[in-house]
This record gives sequence, structure tokens and C-alpha cells, in this order.
Amino acid sequence: MISKILNKIDIRELTLDELKDIFVKKGQPAFRGKQVYEWLWKKSATSFDEMSNLSIELRNLLNEEFCINHIKVQDKQVSEDRTIKSSFRLHDGFLVEGVLIPAEDRMTACVSSQVGCSLTCKFCATGTMKRERNLTPAEIYDQVVHIKNWAQNHYGKPLTNIVFMGMGEPLLNYSNVMAAIKKITLPEGLGMSNERITVSTAGIAKMIEKLGDDNVKFRLALSLHAASDEKRNMIMPINESNSLEAVGKALQHFYNKTKSRITFEYIAFKDFNESIEDAKMLLKFCKKVPAKVNVIEYNPTGDGQFEKADSKKIDAFCAYLEKNGVKATVRRSRGKDIDAACGQLANKKHDDALMEG
Ligand code: SAH
Repeated sequence: MISKILNKIDIRELTLDELKDIFVKKGQPAFRGKQVYEWLWKKSATSFDEMSNLSIELRNLLNEEFCINHIKVQDKQVSEDRTIKSSFRLHDGFLVEGVLIPAEDRMTACVSSQVGCSLTCKFCATGTMKRERNLTPAEIYDQVVHIKNWAQNHYGKPLTNIVFMGMGEPLLNYSNVMAAIKKITLPEGLGMSNERITVSTAGIAKMIEKLGDDNVKFRLALSLHAASDEKRNMIMPINESNSLEAVGKALQHFYNKTKSRITFEYIAFKDFNESIEDAKMLLKFCKKVPAKVNVIEYNPTGDGQFEKADSKKIDAFCAYLEKNGVKATVRRSRGKDIDAACGQLANKKHDDALMEG
């Protein structure tokens, strides 16, 4: 679908061949299309003026017909632990958030796939926002470009990993997420490795199967958080239409096709899902498909409905899994002081500013 803003077409919605065609129709050589394509993707140009190997006439011509709907940094906060979060302003005014998580051995970009989210998971701040719209491939790509630049400029290191764990459910914006990943991984885009990209889903069984059919090369993570339908229904309404059995089958299909080990994310909530009984249920689910478990510390989101589990219980929970042959790692959360941690992305600063203004 081509969106027309002020009668201009966003030029990044065109394929390389379409761009070449446009130049040929204007009596220009096709390679001009490739030049423009490289400016748009490889060099992330935000205006036609930057395209210095095109004549001023050609740049003006493009300017009359096309626009570049690039995202803009609205504000940027650096956490005590060096995590950087920004809200990005989209061309139609919406805001999404992206985060750079620096670690010893890696620089990870956490990006959004939708404005808001439709899944209403009870523990997640983004879940309280309405899902406004899907992000375009270019809007996803732009977040990565910005965050990659922060890694270089703030910490002098290249971006190594990307996780689709920001706002939104990536598998409900399937084709745009796939198109973005293609651009991120192709040499004429950012040339990053598929193995360093993780798409995280709340568990849309049909779309997990589709990932398998499409034989994707990136990693898959499932936000599991409870290993019985009874408990999962209580915290993740999506489970009512995508039972653990259905999701488990979809994961088996995914694994059979891709041979890629899955990560289960499991937030430990106090007195809810962190007992040894719960670990036993999780272990049973882990038998379905080769997987490892990341136990995540709960980040309070404000309504006080949930509490963080005690670290001793988390350790015992992980030890039980490990003892039974499942790799389990505790993920301490990052960027909490600036609400950049998992589940805290809800444009809070912007809301505050709106209230004040
Ligand atoms: N919709 C996708 C992508 C968002 S990922 C998904 O659900 O996987 C965001 C990750 O942060 C998910 O694992 C989510 O379950 C987790 N998360 C959400 N709220 C959280 C919170 N308050 N504390 C810790 N992790 C949270």
C-alpha cells in the first residue's frame, strides 16, 4: 500500500526495480534508481538534498513527487546504567519508543513494531495503550539506524543485536516486520546478521507456523510467563484464543522447519508463577521443543497489581530447570530509572508533557 501524504508518495515504499523504472521513464539511466536506493537505505538519507551524486534538477524533480517519511528523535534519555531510550516521532505525529542496551559483550537495539498494542497483557505498560497502527518497514529500519548511531557515538561500539521487544506485537505486523528485517540484513541495507535478530511474540500460533513455512533465519522468543492455560489466561488474554497446546504445536512446526532453538521469556511474579510447582509445569512445556529459558525480573508498571518475585525463589526456580536439563538464565532489568525496561514503554514522558502542557 502506498501512502500519499500531501499528494506525495513516500519514496521508501518503492522497490529498487520500481525506482529504476521511474528514472527510465524520465529518460534517465536506470542506475540512478540504484543510487537513490542506496541513499535511502544504505546511507539513510532524510532529504533529497543530501543526494550529492544527483543533479540539482533531478533532486528537485524527486522532491516534487516524493517525500521521505523518516522518523525523528523526540527526546532521548540516558540511564544510570548507560541504557539509552528515545521516543521517535512518526510523520503523522504518533510516538514509539526504542532502546539501546549496552553490555560488556554486545550492543542491543530494542525496537517497536506497532504504535501501541492490541494484546492487553496485564503486566505490560504498552498493553494499556490502544493499538493505533502498524509501523512501516522504513519506520522499523529507522529505529535501528538511530540506535546503531548511538552505540557508535556514545560508546564507540558497533550495534551487534536487535530484539523486537519494544512496543507492539511483531507477528501482528508480519509483512512489515519481515520486510524491515530483510532490509536490515541485506548488504545493500545494514548488512546485519539474522542470527543476531530476535523476534519476540506473545504467541500467535498461526503466525509462528508461518515463520516456519517462510523458513526464517532470525531467532524466535516466546513471552510465556505462565505454563498452564489457567494462569496464562489470567495475565495474557491472547492465550484464550491461542492455547498453550496450539502455541506448542506451532513451535514444533517452527523448529522442524528452521532447526532454531527457541527462547522462552518468563517474568517471575511474586506468589503467582515462581514456585517449584510452576517450574515443573514449565519444564513439561520445555519438553515440547528445544528451548532455553530467560527468567525476567518484573518491572513495576505502576498499577501495583503484580510484584517482583524474591531473588531466592527465582534462583531456586532456575536451579530446578537447570537440574532437569533446561538452560535458564536470570535477566536483570536495565534502564529502570528512565522507564526503558521491558514492559515500561508507554510514552510516559510524552504523556506527562501533555498533561503539563
Ligand atoms: N508483543 C511481543 C513483543 C513485546 S516484548 C511479546 O509479547 O513478546 C516485551 C517483552 O517484555 C515481553 O517478553 C514482555 O512479556 C516483557 N514485559 C512486558 N511487561 C513487562 C514488565 N512489566 N516487566 C518485565 N517484562 C515485561
